[in-house]
Amino acid sequence: MTVSGIAQGFWGAVGDTPLIRLRRASELTGCEILGKAEFMNPGGSVKDRAALGILQDAVDRGLLVPGKPGVVVEGTAGNTGIGLALAANAMGWQSVIVVPETQSREKLDFLRMIGADLRLVPAKPYADPGNYVHVSRRLAEETGAVWANQFDNLANARAHEQTTGPEIWAQTGGRIDAFTCSCGTGGTLAGVARALKARNNKVRIILADPEGSALAPWANGGEVRATPGSSVTEGIGQAARVPGNLEGAPIDGAEVIPDAEALEQVYSLLIEEGISVGGSAGLNVAAAIRVAKALGPGHTVATILCDGGARYQSKLFNPDFLREKGLPLPHWLS
Ligand code: PMP
Repeated sequence: MTVSGIAQGFWGAVGDTPLIRLRRASELTGCEILGKAEFMNPGGSVKDRAALGILQDAVDRGLLVPGKPGVVVEGTAGNTGIGLALAANAMGWQSVIVVPETQSREKLDFLRMIGADLRLVPAKPYADPGNYVHVSRRLAEETGAVWANQFDNLANARAHEQTTGPEIWAQTGGRIDAFTCSCGTGGTLAGVARALKARNNKVRIILADPEGSALAPWANGGEVRATPGSSVTEGIGQAARVPGNLEGAPIDGAEVIPDAEALEQVYSLLIEEGISVGGSAGLNVAAAIRVAKALGPGHTVATILCDGGARYQSKLFNPDFLREKGLPLPHWLS
């Protein structure tokens, strides 16, 4: 953002998102529950910040030059790819985006729509060479393109330490007791956690994890160990490893949130407050409510509204999909 208030293109329009008081969660807990509206970024998700941080770092290293031909390659659940592709378009670069075919149709269609070279791969565990992360690394190596490497490229967490975290601190005037956040790469959690703890070491940082992820046992001080169950949320949880961006993050504990609890927040935020979010945001809010209840009335808990609900219309708002998964249906669609 410039002093005049005019953003310079896509790059200048990322960040400075509203921090929204979530009425129902706040009333339920007697606390202030605040959601950082990352779905309002120009690419529609929190990952615009990581995309920009990673590309700016590549520019600083001389790997990409604005206006000169360049290619960025990444493996992603979709949102990082959308941010990277749009930011690349704005600079005259191309993007090659590798996505597991299990991700929502809306994100895949959107990637095609915005001109990304989309490569769909079967969903495979990280240990398998066919995993989307490894496929994207090999593609970059073979073609001499820039590999964004969002999981281990620390420019990701740095972007959140320099923007998301300080914004939350400024928007709350430093009146914040806890922060809850789910992790894909861990960039958001680690960056925001460092920024908040640097300003007040007492702010509690709680990882919000979906069922089936291995991160919660680790965040609670134990080993990386997959928890039972699975999740329909996208872009969060890790089955077997702690990404470089999450290592060493100052975390005080974890909450494992079942899908039904996360979706209750997705549906209630939409129909009772007019705020449309995806599954990871619902999970984050559910964790914020748990943490607020544990702290007691009068506290302030902030969290991240990672992306918007329209990205998951064919799943989280599709009665057939929900019935098949044994999940509750939103009452206005049943
Ligand atoms: N929510 C959604 C919808 C995402 O796509 C992602 C990133 N994959 C996250 C949350 C997690 O963000 P981070 O990578 O910063 O941990």
